[in-house]
Amino acid sequence: MPAVMIKCPRTLRPVCTGVEADLSNFNGLLDVASRIHCPHCGDDHTWWKREAWLADQPSNRQEPSFLKMRRTSRGRVPDLKHIQSPG
Ligand SMILES: [Zn+2]
Repeated sequence: MPAVMIKCPRTLRPVCTGVEADLSNFNGLLDVASRIHCPHCGDDHTWWKREAWLADQPSNRQEPSFLKMRRTSRGRVPDLKHIQSPG
């Protein structure tokens, strides 16, 4: 289930609230204040549902670096020595 994210008001970096919700759950959340300890600035932040978003939404999403895996070609192209015209 995607995580509910907020933005740290100091560092402007996304913070995972630890709350997980899918889109229907998220839309049904009450807009009440919650507190979270921010890992970026070390402070506690009060956040509201109206300023939160789901982690898998295209907006505000950052491309995870582990998805950009380098492809190494293990099978090298064989040399073409065996293709020789018979002398
Ligand atoms: Zn913060």
